[in-house]
Amino acid sequence: MKQPIISYHQDELRDWVAELGCGHFQHVRHNPPWQVREWVVSPQGREQFIGYLLYCLKCDVDAPKDKIERAPNNSY
Ligand SMILES: [Zn+2]
Repeated sequence: MKQPIISYHQDELRDWVAELGCGHFQHVRHNPPWQVREWVVSPQGREQFIGYLLYCLKCDVDAPKDKIERAPNNSY
């Protein structure tokens, strides 16, 4: 099922994680040449992709919603 990105946070490895409308999270790593998502490294890029639809595999398997383990001074 496709779900819109509603927000982001970074995990403990400082990889970007998109928070989807369904309550699931999905990594949106910029890890060239395997994963090229240059947009995710800048605040403007991330802003632009708010509302972008990502395919959520977790919805397909009815996975429980993800929870944020936010570091104290983590913000996007
Ligand atoms: Zn989902």
